[in-house]
Amino acid sequence: MQELTHYIGGAHVKGTSGRFADVFNPATGEVQAKCPLANADEMAHAVDVAAKAQPAWGAVNPQRRARVMMEFVRLLNRDMDKLAEALSREHGKTIPDAKGDVQRGLEVVEYCIGAPQLLKGEFTDSAGPGIDMYSMRQPLGVTAGITPFNFPAMIPMWMFAPAIACGNAFILKPSERDPSVPLMLAELMEEAGAPKGILQVVNGDKEAVDAILDHPVIQSIGFVGSTPIAEYIYGRGCSNGKRVQCFGGAKNHMIIMPDADMDQAADALVGAGYGAAGERCMAISVAVPVGDETADRLIEKLVPRIEALKVGPYTAGNDVDYGPVVTAAAKEKILGLVQSGVDQGAELVVDGRNFNLQGYEDGFFVGPHLFDRVTPDMDIYQQEIFGPVLSCVRAASYEEALTLAMDHEMGNGTAIFTRDGDAARDFANRINVGMIGVNVPIPVPLAYHTFGGWKKSAFGDLNQHGPDAFKFYTRTKTVTARWPSGIKEGGEFNFRAMD
Ligand code: NAD
Repeated sequence: MQELTHYIGGAHVKGTSGRFADVFNPATGEVQAKCPLANADEMAHAVDVAAKAQPAWGAVNPQRRARVMMEFVRLLNRDMDKLAEALSREHGKTIPDAKGDVQRGLEVVEYCIGAPQLLKGEFTDSAGPGIDMYSMRQPLGVTAGITPFNFPAMIPMWMFAPAIACGNAFILKPSERDPSVPLMLAELMEEAGAPKGILQVVNGDKEAVDAILDHPVIQSIGFVGSTPIAEYIYGRGCSNGKRVQCFGGAKNHMIIMPDADMDQAADALVGAGYGAAGERCMAISVAVPVGDETADRLIEKLVPRIEALKVGPYTAGNDVDYGPVVTAAAKEKILGLVQSGVDQGAELVVDGRNFNLQGYEDGFFVGPHLFDRVTPDMDIYQQEIFGPVLSCVRAASYEEALTLAMDHEMGNGTAIFTRDGDAARDFANRINVGMIGVNVPIPVPLAYHTFGGWKKSAFGDLNQHGPDAFKFYTRTKTVTARWPSGIKEGGEFNFRAMD
């Protein structure tokens, strides 16, 4: 049994709290490692190390910091296969999907190579007589991030790459369910040239998170995970005076208009609903066909595609569309919600409840499910299932479909499938959701744009990556400067415009 570590001050450090979490191989159900769960003292030690390392790193010029990012990109590409394998082994997703997880994070690192440009401040020459005004963006100091299990490479990189490119030290508290890739990323950052203590990984659960929330030296906290925890972290972090951005859960709707290409829509729904076993915050979990005829045509196209899905372990290579869910508890929760859908009167068109994979009976596999005639009062509509379950809610009109998506408390992503530019444009303008796809089912913005939902899917005002990240991880300082020749004119007593 492997005992995992923390990564503090440039070294693998054993946990001292005596508490551990089991890390499973979701395909076999076996416990493959023990993840140490840090206490407040271990976290405080990492913060001390970070606080000592950060000033020198913050003083390194942005171009040199960018070169570390360049080298980190090279190392990520060098180790892509190794990272993907470690990721699939703990998470369960397929190898191509795991590579996508690393790749989407890598692209944020590539964006951070632009740090010298992105960190340039503003300058006004002669803002007043002999007076110049300029602003600079300075690092915050010690920053921290708390990340979910479902993207153990991408989401840590969303946070630590811009934080470090901006000159901060970063403490990562990854998910205790798949902590190995974050540890590998910390080693690679150091190999790329980041000084010891600039990226540290402290594994843990609520105790470690609370230690971050309450530590006076930590200046900012990034969180991605479920909505109840996002709300908790946002509230406690803000009340402790920190800069906090929290991204929560989702219930993403895809509206299918009568004029949509139904084959295209069905293919999109199968990929977006069942890919990664539905464990994506941008997964489509609700299909909203407009009109009964559209719904009937859609269901007819979906059923054979869903029944043909291949579910299996990542080791089966390209023969697998999606793998197991992350834990036995996740599987139990998903199947419980499926049962509630049946009990509350939804029509279970594809029933994956008895799915069984020979040779992997103890793995956390969940067969694909499709519900039709789901209504907004049902638990399967209101709650995030985070599994391979697609719910179809029939809407009588476009307005009804739009209202349905707008009334849901979550607002991460959404999509419309149509050939009508006017409907698509109206949808994009009016919908109260953060990321919109037009004939694109999973509209995850690229690294140089920003990622973030609305409503209960996000707390805080700045998004992830893109230009927002460089704002989140820096403080603005504005200088008004007048040089000695101006002083001989005497004091100025009135607060006035600079004319
Ligand atoms: P989670 O909320 O259970 O855990 C996220 C992190 O919070 C982990 O590091 C975990 O250790 C920590 N945590 C868990 N319980 C805690 C507690 N009581 N107090 C303090 N910290 C706690 O989420 P998860 O199951 O790892 O990830 C799935 C969720 O993340 C889904 O809801 C999904 O939609 C969401 N997600 C959102 C986005 C986004 O960008 N909006 C992206 C990916 C995942």
